[in-house]
Amino acid sequence: MQKFDVIVVGGGMVGASVALSLAEQGLTIAVIEKQQPSHVDDSAPYNLRVSAISLGSEQLLKQLDVWQHIVSQRHAPYRKLAIWESDYSYTEFDAASISQPHLGHIIENHVIQHAIWQKLSGHNNVQLFVGESVTALVQDNKQCNIQLSNSEHMSAKLLLAADGAHSTIRQLANIGTTGWDYQQSAMLINVETEYEQQDITWQYMTPQGPRAFLPLQHNQASLVWYDSPDKIKQLLSLNNQQLTDAVEATFPSRLGKVSVIDKGAFPLTRRHANRYSQGRVVLLGDAAHTINPLAGQGVNIGFKDVKALVEHIVSAIAEGKPWDNKDVLKGYERARRTDNLLMMSAMDAFYFGFKHPSGVVKLLRNAGLAIANKAPVIKEQALKYACGL
Ligand SMILES: Cc1cc2nc3c(=O)[nH]c(=O)nc-3n(C[C@H](O)[C@H](O)[C@H](O)COP(=O)(O)OP(=O)(O)OC[C@H]3O[C@@H](n4cnc5c(N)ncnc54)[C@H](O)[C@@H]3O)c2cc1C
Repeated sequence: MQKFDVIVVGGGMVGASVALSLAEQGLTIAVIEKQQPSHVDDSAPYNLRVSAISLGSEQLLKQLDVWQHIVSQRHAPYRKLAIWESDYSYTEFDAASISQPHLGHIIENHVIQHAIWQKLSGHNNVQLFVGESVTALVQDNKQCNIQLSNSEHMSAKLLLAADGAHSTIRQLANIGTTGWDYQQSAMLINVETEYEQQDITWQYMTPQGPRAFLPLQHNQASLVWYDSPDKIKQLLSLNNQQLTDAVEATFPSRLGKVSVIDKGAFPLTRRHANRYSQGRVVLLGDAAHTINPLAGQGVNIGFKDVKALVEHIVSAIAEGKPWDNKDVLKGYERARRTDNLLMMSAMDAFYFGFKHPSGVVKLLRNAGLAIANKAPVIKEQALKYACGL
């Protein structure tokens, strides 16, 4: 049986970054990932899965020394962020107002994952188990023992579950969740645009859900069309030309002419684990929480989980205390649960506020946006929070 300090299950953006952070502390790490991370090819069409990476997440990726690698691939920085429901409530945030060169970057998820994996594979204290998943988990007060799909057994002092929204480890550890289905889906549509690359990301709010624009490199963009599952199902059945027509008829005219390249859809679910650890099993990223993606915060709060857990482990090591005990895991949960809940609740208030059909609520939300637009201090604070600063 192989023994490690830490086993990380799930080598997505969150799992790979926590594995790399702990490997750099000299701990021995196993990463178990069921899918081979996809190859990055700048000449291939843009992958549909892109994320708005905040300044806070950029700092973590810089600390891990993978940022340069990431931005040497395709990426699109944005300096401004706009939101409106009517012309009267148009609100724009600018990086200059918080003395930053940009607010974030739109980057393909697999570009981030690939950059971290490149660095991970150079560490002698890391073993990567690709194409494997965990079939059994038993823990005692000293270690976690797991069995892989290839029947191999291994043990570790901590088992970190970063295996995404449908986490197997969360289930094997008997950690329940609370949440709900938003009865809405998000359709991701990659398009070629008439306009040159832009440095703004925007959201036009409609009663059916937001219509969002995320810039990609050159004349390309990622659009997000939020709507009822039935409507999204109908849109998915259209061919690219028909969908192009539907986009141009529904998105605001500032989008200009577009041509659909690729499309896909995801149901929206809110999920929050009832606890972030159980014995020696710890949850991070989407395994711990899934959030409405309308403000692009999901992986950004996952990266904050990584920072918090690593900080607690590193300070225990520095103080000569055990780094794998209850106090460390409780400290991590204290640092992250309230913050994650706050972000999830803020997104829900936003989502339900803009979905409400009442004319009075519409008046209030538009007035709220208009007031916020003219209140620099509120805007600055909201922007810093969204940027993870
Ligand atoms: C439509 C949409 C748009 C979004 N936009 C943004 C955005 O702009 N900004 C943002 O911050 N977030 C965004 N998100 C959220 C973001 O995609 C997720 O929060 C992020 O991918 C979570 O990363 P993760 O590493 O925790 O989980 P995942 O990305 O789900 O990775 C989990 C990994 O675990 C592996 N795995 C799963 N099960 C097992 C198993 N049993 N054994 C071994 N390996 C396993 C998977 O193969 C995968 O590699 C969006 C989400 C959606 C749906």
